[in-house]
Amino acid sequence: MDNHELQSWVERVSLEAFGLPFRHRAVFNRRLSSTGGRYFMKSHHIEISAKQLAAYGAEETEKIIKHELCHYHLHLLGRGYRHRDPEFKEWLARSGGSRYCKPLPDKARKTLPYRYKLVCGSCRMEYLRKRKADPARYVCGRCRGRLSLHALDTAQRP
Ligand SMILES: [Zn+2]
Ligand SMILES: [Zn+2]
Repeated sequence: MDNHELQSWVERVSLEAFGLPFRHRAVFNRRLSSTGGRYFMKSHHIEISAKQLAAYGAEETEKIIKHELCHYHLHLLGRGYRHRDPEFKEWLARSGGSRYCKPLPDKARKTLPYRYKLVCGSCRMEYLRKRKADPARYVCGRCRGRLSLHALDTAQRP
C-alpha cells in the first residue's frame, strides 16, 4: 500500500465513521514505531506507521486511523481533541478507534538463509554458512582437514 491508497483510505474512513471530510494529507511513516499514528496540529496532516500496518494488518490500522481522525476533526472544530478530553473519549468510543497504540513487537529476528558452505578437502564434509566465512580460519570438525568456501546456487532456509 502506498501513500495514495492510504490517503483514499483515510478519506473514506472519515466520511463513513464521522460523516466529515478529511481535507488534509495522510502519509505513511516508514520509521515510526513508537506509536501507530500521529496527528500534526500545525499542518493537520496525519501520519500512519507503516510498521503498524505490517505488524497488525488493516483492521487494527483502521482503528489507528479513526484515533487520529478524532484528534483531527475535534481539533478543527475547536473542541476537546486531547486524549484526556471527554469529547475525545466519546468520539473514540463511538467511532471504534483504538484507545492507544499497541506497542509493536520486537523487531522480528530475521532468520537468514544459508548462502555458503565450507567444504572439507579431505572428507568432503559440508558446513552450511549464512555469511561469507574465511575458510583459513576454520578446520573440519570431523577430520581437521582444510576447508574451502563455496557459494550455494540457491539459498537454503535454515
Ligand atoms: Zn492520540
Ligand atoms: Zn573433513
